[in-house]
Amino acid sequence: MATDIEKVKCLIIGSGPAGYTAAIYAARANMKPVLYQGTQPGGQLTTTNEVENFPGYPDGITGPEMMIELQKQAERFEADVRHGWITKVDFSGDVHKVWVNDEKEIHCDTVIISTGASAKYLGLESEQKYLKLGGGVSACAVCDGFFYRNQEVVIVGAGDSACEEAHYLSNLCKKVTMLVRRDEFRASKIMANRVKNTPNIEILFNTETEEVLGDGQVVTGVKVFNNQTNEKHEIPATGFFVAIGHKPNTDIFKDYLNLDETGYIINVPGTAKTNVEGVFVSGDAADHVYRQAITAAGTGCMAALDAERYLASKDASFEVSTSTYN
Ligand code: NDP
Repeated sequence: MATDIEKVKCLIIGSGPAGYTAAIYAARANMKPVLYQGTQPGGQLTTTNEVENFPGYPDGITGPEMMIELQKQAERFEADVRHGWITKVDFSGDVHKVWVNDEKEIHCDTVIISTGASAKYLGLESEQKYLKLGGGVSACAVCDGFFYRNQEVVIVGAGDSACEEAHYLSNLCKKVTMLVRRDEFRASKIMANRVKNTPNIEILFNTETEEVLGDGQVVTGVKVFNNQTNEKHEIPATGFFVAIGHKPNTDIFKDYLNLDETGYIINVPGTAKTNVEGVFVSGDAADHVYRQAITAAGTGCMAALDAERYLASKDASFEVSTSTYN
């Protein structure tokens, strides 16, 4: 029923660093943002143990704690943070419509998409077990590599990300074993050559993971098999890195927004604007290159500023706040 439809100035979808930063800026700019957290409140960082590279935390902070702090900061300025999952959108008209849990309909002047991307995992039970325990499984070498200094680690994948991450790890770790499931890399030649020429990276081709081994708390090794000979062996390792790609969480927008071939939203360069007026994007949903909490937060800020300027251009009574720029 029409009377059940809620109207909001600024709807933010997603609760990672991008979404919460957008909420902080939008709330301080009097846009009364409503933020829906999605199925994983706090986003990808809630699967990270310690965050040591976000400026302002000299002693580090755990991913989940950091997300609680960001939520509190957004709520301090009266951002309306809600549980709920946006299941459908309609960006075909002047008013942008979204549906929460397939039921509640909201009409929005502006929408900021901060739905992030999900790292792909192999799906092995042992991998998921140590991932959940925070015991040595990671999909982000830049985030977690530091904890494996001078240790031996294994990384799965053969694309540019895997090569980049293996090389990053090789500067920290004693040894990196790279598991490539085919007899060749998918990565560009230059990236593949870099790992091939790094002395402490050992590449095992035609090799897949059978099981992540551990002592019940932390990873102690990886059992692998050669998919040509079926030979098996164990590799001692304290870290198991998975770099087999990410999937941006953008499926519900594909009928309205320009996406690249892997599903990332294409923004107007240097802005958070999408091809639809009033719809903005921030964070990993549009970024397959940097994928860091700090870059996501930065683009969350950009999205809120762009949304604020858009509102001001549409509605003379809505003034661009000066507080935003302080
Ligand atoms: P890609 O999709 O390019 O590569 C994924 C890799 O993971 C492939 O080698 C694939 O193997 C492997 N893989 C997938 N599933 C499994 C599995 N179940 N078991 C073992 N291996 C598996 O993803 P990336 O994240 O590497 O790159 C995404 C995009 O970002 C690319 O366009 C890339 O070029 C770009 N990028 C660019 C960078 C740069 O230029 N600096 C850095 C990072 C990414 P297979 O080859 O057998 O299919």
